[in-house]
Amino acid sequence: MPVTALKGVGARNAERLAKIGVQTVQDVLFHLPFRYQDRTRITPMYALRLGDQAVVEGVVEMSEIRFGRRRSLLVVLAEGNASLTLRFFHFSAAQKAGLAPGVRLRCFGEVRNGPKSLEMVHPEYHRVDGENEQDMEESLTPIYPTTEGMHQLSWRGMTDKALVVLAEHPQGLPDLLPEALLRSQRLPELAAAVRYLHRPPPDASLDELAEGRHPAQRRLAFEELLAHQLSLRELRRLHKGTPARALAGGGDLRQRLMASLPFKLTAAQLRVAGEIGEDLRRKHPMMRLVQGDVGSGKTVVSALAVLQALESKCQAALMAPTELLAEQHLRSFRGWLEPLDLEVAWLTGRHKGKARQQILESLATGETRLVVGTHALLQEDVVFSALGLVIVDEQHRFGVHQRMALRGKGGSGDFVPHQLIMTATPIPRSLAMTAYADLDLSVIDELPPGRLPVSTVAIPDSRREEVIERVRAACQEQRQAYWVCTLIEESEALQCQAAEDTALQLAEALPDLRIGLVHGRLKAAEKESMMDGFKRGEIELLVSTTVIEVGVDVPNASLMIIENPERLGLAQLHQLRGRVGRGATESHCVLMYHPPLTGKARERLAVMRHTGDGFVIARKDLELRGPGEVLGTRQTGEMQFRIADLVRDQGMLDDIRQAADQLLKNNPDRVEPLIRRWIGEKTQYINA
Ligand code: ADP
Ligand code: MG
Repeated sequence: MPVTALKGVGARNAERLAKIGVQTVQDVLFHLPFRYQDRTRITPMYALRLGDQAVVEGVVEMSEIRFGRRRSLLVVLAEGNASLTLRFFHFSAAQKAGLAPGVRLRCFGEVRNGPKSLEMVHPEYHRVDGENEQDMEESLTPIYPTTEGMHQLSWRGMTDKALVVLAEHPQGLPDLLPEALLRSQRLPELAAAVRYLHRPPPDASLDELAEGRHPAQRRLAFEELLAHQLSLRELRRLHKGTPARALAGGGDLRQRLMASLPFKLTAAQLRVAGEIGEDLRRKHPMMRLVQGDVGSGKTVVSALAVLQALESKCQAALMAPTELLAEQHLRSFRGWLEPLDLEVAWLTGRHKGKARQQILESLATGETRLVVGTHALLQEDVVFSALGLVIVDEQHRFGVHQRMALRGKGGSGDFVPHQLIMTATPIPRSLAMTAYADLDLSVIDELPPGRLPVSTVAIPDSRREEVIERVRAACQEQRQAYWVCTLIEESEALQCQAAEDTALQLAEALPDLRIGLVHGRLKAAEKESMMDGFKRGEIELLVSTTVIEVGVDVPNASLMIIENPERLGLAQLHQLRGRVGRGATESHCVLMYHPPLTGKARERLAVMRHTGDGFVIARKDLELRGPGEVLGTRQTGEMQFRIADLVRDQGMLDDIRQAADQLLKNNPDRVEPLIRRWIGEKTQYINA
């Protein structure tokens, strides 16, 4: 039923509502208040607590204008022995006259600490005359998230009507969760939950509602998360049902690579490589996510997968989110594969014209077996002859849609390439299994032996000289250092400028050092030669923007300075710091902040000083920033929930996965309606 079916909702309101995704009566019912006020009762004045939003009643004892820093009207309201000050900064003469001593008032407002007593600033108020006493509200007052031009009263009217429709036509909003599930989870029925949340009774716990812990809220969050789980499972089922080339491989290339490595793989690397190897042998596409902390050695694991594909006479593609990272992979793979007489091609957005044409041709004919690159690989005219495997590194920047875009790249026949996704954002397992329910999950939960923790300090930028001395000392000991510049401004140009300025200053302060500079605006060739120089040790200090955040690997670098770390999130700091601590000597990280720090920034820096464990940092990051930011899904709009909250509702996730299993088995007919109810048109990609 469209919203316009509700009396009083015309075309104009429908348009406003559409802006916030409310199109049907059901949407109105699912548009829940984000907080409540209790106007159902009068709170005795003596019982008021700081922060309460409450209705109070009393008699004006005194009313006067104060000329302090700001002119204000102070009204002292008394009830028995208790009193409360009402403070107004804007008021008319008539208003002042109406607040004369002896007048009885009923007010609603938030209780704050005043200079002398508790206060309400600009409360809502009206006179009470005993005779025409107004009734109190019958339920808690809902406050709705709204959009321009829609008032709370309109929302209340509209939801009133929608609730009537619900009562008259309960079949319009059928409960899709089986009774047994509701009972075992102790959750209320859908209609009851919806009604409760729109009009909570006077005895409802405001605290519980504010924290989203009420069973009615949990009921809706459960259903919403279940719907998401089901839609990702559906995606996975469809994907797994498509044909892929079975890439058993002979094993010879892999053996030769292993023999050439200067180290032995860790047990975790071997286990994960084994899981991937098994997937690749199957006739249906792999969809696997490999999680591993910074430095856990994901790249070599992906190289083994590549070789398995090449052994099977198929092509492979490796895609990274930035050019710098793609270049880094290019170098690693060339180092490993060229001794095996295998060439590695390279494709980014910078390849244009003839050069690009040549690469495209060699991919289409199958002459090129492995290509490394950026998003440029996703472009439509990039066609392969037999693409068996796609590897996506640092996945948190790739969304479901991009994963889907890769499906069409298999080449001849209807084969879909196997997909391997690697991420250095290790999130708790139950969360990963929710956010990535369309993927299988492997975790490299071990760092190569001999890694020392990076000792981390936070130092105010007033001690810059000292920090510069540290850089000099480190380089004198033949170590190398990074100096990372950050800027709040998102403008890339400003970022690069800041890095350039810093490089100049440091060159002056440290004339004996060979200093390099990388940022996003350098030409690919310039960047490459800088990175090469740093890697070979010719450059001792590398000044950069945060472009080096992911993947860059120079084991001899053992000192990292991060300027203004307070501007970065934990995940980014962890990634940056992960550039050091890759060699055999102890590494250091200096977080050179600009005081004063906000509470949250202080907390972040403390986390960085106290732990190097990516899982701990990710958990803290989830707490501080929320999953949308951490998973990088806020921008893509994925994993955006109306009611659920992945952090708050973490405890339900295991049960939700089980419920999804049960529902798929016992009530498959409810799966589609559930997905449609909660995700609606976003499921289009399922049929893509
Ligand atoms: P990440 O998981 O962050 O992508 P990399 O794949 O870049 O990590 O590996 C980090 C460094 O560790 C590289 O120099 C790599 O060659 C090295 N490395 C990988 N596996 C091992 C291992 N088992 N033992 C020692 N060093 C290893
Ligand atoms: Mg990596």
